[in-house]
This record gives sequence, structure tokens and C-alpha cells, in this order.
Amino acid sequence: MSNTDYHYILVRYGELSTKGKNRLSFINQLKRNIKEALFQFSALTYQETYDRLYITLNGENPADVSALLQNVFGIISFSWAYQCPSEIDAIAEAATRLAKAESGETFKVIARRHYKLFPMLSDEINRAVAGHILDETSLRVDVHQPDIKVWIEVRQDKTFIMVNMIKGSGGYPVGIGGKAMMMLSGGIDSPVAAYLMMKRGVKVDMIHFASMPYTSAQSLQKVKDLTKLLTPYQSSIRLNVIHFTTIQLAINKVVPESYTITVMRRFMFRIADRLGLDTRCLAIATGESLGQVASQTLDSMRVISAVTSLPVLRPVLTYDKNEIIDCSKRIRTYETSILPFEDCCTIFTPQKPTTKPHLNKVEFYESKLDIEGLINECLSQVDVEYITQKQTAETDDLF
Ligand code: ATP
Ligand code: MG
Repeated sequence: MSNTDYHYILVRYGELSTKGKNRLSFINQLKRNIKEALFQFSALTYQETYDRLYITLNGENPADVSALLQNVFGIISFSWAYQCPSEIDAIAEAATRLAKAESGETFKVIARRHYKLFPMLSDEINRAVAGHILDETSLRVDVHQPDIKVWIEVRQDKTFIMVNMIKGSGGYPVGIGGKAMMMLSGGIDSPVAAYLMMKRGVKVDMIHFASMPYTSAQSLQKVKDLTKLLTPYQSSIRLNVIHFTTIQLAINKVVPESYTITVMRRFMFRIADRLGLDTRCLAIATGESLGQVASQTLDSMRVISAVTSLPVLRPVLTYDKNEIIDCSKRIRTYETSILPFEDCCTIFTPQKPTTKPHLNKVEFYESKLDIEGLINECLSQVDVEYITQKQTAETDDLF
């Protein structure tokens, strides 16, 4: 028995099974996402039933397909399936071969009869197949905690046999929850926040503020690399790069040092809000976590998010740094996040930023700036790039 003997991968849908009337759009989105994630396997074909999707392998290796399928949100689990004729001898024979190829000492057969005219009841199938496996192998039956489970699904024209069940990533299919403008720095937190948004079914567009020449080309490349690392979960990600230097210099000129971060972040949020509204985003998302740094106190958050009309979502708000780091290691963004390139915030960081900014002071300092003019200038020169799994990055400025 080798991997290429398998005919199908059977995909079980996750939480969306419970979502009555939106079900169809959920399934269609999931199907689209699965096809995009697996685009490189050109032989695959797809067929869906009420609660499952069958991927026909047509010779593709199920192990390679599974590695990518495991990243697609909305899948609860999936199994490799072997197909044989709906005849008991063929079923017993195939089930034995599949069980034999697995590692373990005990097994259990779980048969389901979708084709009600099949001449044996489920329990009779269980016993016949188990008997054959006992005769042909050294495996023992354990109905409570078997090492190997042999699932058999008898249909009219064919029978599926499965011996593994691979856990999917759960969550909702990316895209069913609308779109958010994700503020992506080069740090550890925002890629994790982006991943968590995607997991809840929200598609993200990235917005990154770069301060050339104070920030380097490498620091921008790092942001592109982080975006690319998130494409297993959302196969095409729009990255908007904002050239932020003029605004930062203007702020540093007129705003007292302890308030520069507050004012700078209000500009970031204003720009994210404007671009988000123009590109059909329903929210802004950030990697802010409560209490980590001066701009991340509740006082600061209140003053900073007062400038947006879109809601600001903070998926890692209550996480400890260690929890965020664990997640970033799991999704493999950590190694890139810790590369030591300057970020626009680190360059202009004041000695003592205020943790309790006052809105009236902020507004007074901002009154010395041409807010609209500065924002419009930034928005007129956004660099847009689509980063995809396929590594074809094309630019466009259609928005
Ligand atoms: P991160 O690890 O995500 O950089 P952080 O703990 O370093 O977060 P800050 O630098 O204060 O915290 O940034 C808080 C959030 O603001 C970030 O998570 C990100 O969402 C946003 N942000 C900060 N800098 C930028 C930037 N240059 N471009 C886009 N978003 C940014
Ligand atoms: Mg940061």
C-alpha cells in the first residue's frame, strides 16, 4: 500500500455545519479557498455533497496535498479515502491492506451503510471485515481505544475506506466575514493578529507605514516576507505601503516629544480608516496588546481610535507576550519578525512617551498641522502589491 493508492481526500466542514441559511455561501467560499490553496496540484478534481467535499487525487500525493489543506480555515478534519467496489470481499480485502500499512497493535471497524439496499447491516459488515483483518494480520480488536480506526462508507456504486483522520485548523473560511484593514508592522504581534482575523473568516488587506530613508529597504522586504508567510491561510493578500516620512517629520517639528507617538498613531489610524473605507473594509485591525507599551494603555487607545469611523479590532489585546510569541512560532512568522530592522516607530521613539494622553492637548498640537493635506498627499502615493502563494506579485493602483 502506498500513498498514491489512495483515490480521494474527504474533507469535513467545520463550524459552518451549524450555520443554517448562510451555509451555501460558506461552502462555496471554503471550496474556493481550498482550490486556491491547492492550485499547484493541477490533477485534482472536486465534488461536494451536503456535508463534505471529496477531492479526487488523480495520482497526486495525498501527503503533499494534506500539508497545504491543514492551513485552510473552516475544515474540521479530513481523511484519505480508498475506493473499492461495494462488495464485501473487496471491502474486507482493501480494509485489511490499509489497516496493515498503519502503525499500531489494535483496531476497530466502523461501517456506515449509505446504500440501504446493501445486503448486509452495518454491524454485519463490521464483523465480516474485522474477521478478515484478524485472520490476515497480528492486529487485535479494541473497541474502546483502538490504535487504528477503519471507517467504511458503503454507497451504491462504490465504497470508501479510510484509516486516518487529520485535524483541520477549524475556524471559518477566509472571506465569509468581510474584510479588514490590518495594520502590519514588522513586529511579532501584528502577523499573529492577522492570522487570528483570518481564522475567524475575515479577509485582510495589509497597510504598512514606511519611513524611507529612515527605514531601510530590508525593513520593507521583511513586511513583504511576513505577508507572504500568511498566504497559506489567505492565498492572495493586498499590501498597501504608505510613505509616512513627511508626516513624521511634520509631527516631530511641532508636537512636544511626549505626544509624538500619540499624534503619529492618530495619523496612521486616519489613513487606515480612509483607505479602508475606500477599499470596502469593515474594520481596522491591529496587533496592539493592552499595557505593553505607552501607546497601548486604554487611555491611549481611546484617544488614538477616536479618529476612525471604522471599528478597531485588536485580536491579541488580552494576550500575554509569551502567548503571542508561541502563536507566532506555530505559524512560523517568529523568525522573520525578530530580524533586527528598524521600524518607523522605533526610529522616532521619544524618551518618555505619555501613557495618559489628553484629547484636548492632542487636538491643540494637531491644530498646528495641515491634517487633511498631509493625509491626502500620503493617499495619493500608496504602493499596492498583491502577495500570493504563487509568488507572482503584481502591482496595481486601482482603488
Ligand atoms: P508589533 O509586534 O505588531 O509591531 P508592537 O508590540 O511592537 O507590535 P507597536 O509598535 O506599538 O507595538 O504597534 C502596535 C500596533 O500598531 C502594531 O501591532 C500594528 O498593528 C500597528 N503598527 C505599528 N507600527 C506600524 C507600521 N509601521 N505599519 C503598520 N502598522 C503599524
Ligand atoms: Mg512594533
